[in-house]
Amino acid sequence: MEIYLDNAATTKPREEVVEANVRVFSELFGNPSSLHRKGVEIEKEIKKVRKNVATSLGCADSEVYFTSGGTESNNISIQGIAKAYLKNGNHLITTNIEHPSVLNVFRKLENEGFKVSYIDVDKNGSVSPSQLYEAITDKTILISIMHVNNETGRILPIKEIGRKIKKASPRIVFHVDATQSYGKLNLDVENFLIDSLSISGHKIHATKGVGALYVRKGVKVSPLYAGGGQESGLRVGTENASAILGLGEAVKACFSNQHITRAHVKIVKEHLFDGIKNTISTTVINGSIDDSFSPYIINIAFLGVKAEVLLHSLEQDGIYVSTGSACSSTNNMQSHVLKAMGLKRLQIESSLRFSFSRDNTIEEMDYVIERIKKHVYDIRKIVKRI
Ligand code: PMP
Repeated sequence: MEIYLDNAATTKPREEVVEANVRVFSELFGNPSSLHRKGVEIEKEIKKVRKNVATSLGCADSEVYFTSGGTESNNISIQGIAKAYLKNGNHLITTNIEHPSVLNVFRKLENEGFKVSYIDVDKNGSVSPSQLYEAITDKTILISIMHVNNETGRILPIKEIGRKIKKASPRIVFHVDATQSYGKLNLDVENFLIDSLSISGHKIHATKGVGALYVRKGVKVSPLYAGGGQESGLRVGTENASAILGLGEAVKACFSNQHITRAHVKIVKEHLFDGIKNTISTTVINGSIDDSFSPYIINIAFLGVKAEVLLHSLEQDGIYVSTGSACSSTNNMQSHVLKAMGLKRLQIESSLRFSFSRDNTIEEMDYVIERIKKHVYDIRKIVKRI
């Protein structure tokens, strides 16, 4: 039996996604820039996906650009906007719990002479819109805030933040990393006053290496690469057509079932949490179980247990979880997110992230609870003896 609870790292591609990929490999293999029929047929299909993504965000088709995923969307947007608006100022704002594909871009820009304010989060992993408002200066040109934190599931108040930013100055560009929320939570670029937004395909059951970037009409972005002019010059290089068509299928599927899936994963997550809380002593939720956290992610500390040991014990049972972000876990560093929330080292080192998809069931959670209970008991017993 395999129970996959690492859906914030990546999701299993849907069957329709795989079929769309194969259709491009075997039939629609033309280059969308070619003038002949093989080019035109795939170009038309890509256009349909662009429309679907645009509809899902409430924007125009011409405001959607296909990229290789969340990392590239964040890079193109943050670097490109900072450079395009440098003449208006050199101050940028973000939070200290962003994904490395945002944080490291800001660090790079700092090395290039930009000034960056990193906003602190509270113990629940959120930023206060008024604290952010106070950080704005007349030199601020860009603010980047994630919608859902990938380690804790905390939903950041981007709607209120968008309003604060535009109240301070409508000229400041507002970028949102929506990699963990797109297709899962309500998101409306018009209503939330978002100027730029990153999407990743493999978090919503499409394949890896595809994503999208929304950029509001009129917002300037200096392209990172020079090339043949694809994606209106913003992301040049022949389009990854198979993955884009797969993304289209994933978008269709997740938006037609968004509310049902969200309600389902919420029940699954709460069942797991209740089971752990009621049967295993000294466990702490990093955050809370309320609606300020995404139903797709929960982060729990099993005090006195090294998370990595528990992770590998669960792996023996076919249960896959994570110690935090997949992108930083290989660096063997303590989670910068949990640290920013003020957690002590021992709590951080005993924290596991469980992240859900529509495929998870209550029966699976019952088994996971039983296995965690056994492993935590065994590990704590050994630790006591040492
Ligand atoms: N931002 C967040 C919040 C993420 O969780 C991730 C993926 N872990 C990314 C950006 C990067 O996305 P991708 O893997 O598509 O490059």
